[in-house]
Amino acid sequence: MTMLERTLSIIKPNAVERGLVGKILARFEDNHLKIVATKMVWLSRPKAMEFYAVHKERPFFKSLVDFMVSGPVVVSVLEGEDAVKRHRDVMGATDPGKAAPGTIRKDFGESIEKNASHGSDSLDNAKVEISHFFSGLELQDYARR
Ligand code: ATP
Ligand code: MG
Repeated sequence: MTMLERTLSIIKPNAVERGLVGKILARFEDNHLKIVATKMVWLSRPKAMEFYAVHKERPFFKSLVDFMVSGPVVVSVLEGEDAVKRHRDVMGATDPGKAAPGTIRKDFGESIEKNASHGSDSLDNAKVEISHFFSGLELQDYARR
């Protein structure tokens, strides 16, 4: 049984700076992940720290936050069957050096930190992460389609 889900994507500052937004969004659309909301935002430090709070004890936390506030990002809500896992499969492994051929991180990631994109890791986290960036008014209702 598959489920229609929504997940949060962030195209990270390195990929935005390198002009890869269109190519990365196309990967989503080519893989049955419909873009139901999208916008460019420049994260504040407190917002980035809150977003990555689960990693606050990790040695890479400060560097990760510095990177995530270094320029604008593109946040999107993606919808599709099994969207959370599908999106992570399209992104590939966290470390671009270990990501499978044809994945976003393999093709566009520069390092384990500057790995081009973020994706929610569970349906529960997707709901929390979507609400970090989008109000109900910005999201289309399933019932309208
Ligand atoms: P994301 O949450 O961004 O989708 P992920 O779930 O694959 O990535 P996490 O373990 O949640 O990986 O790590 C969050 C982010 O922290 C990674 O995407 C990467 O940018 C950074 N990161 C993870 N591990 C390391 C590391 N060992 N050194 C530097 N940065 C890291
Ligand atoms: Mg994660």
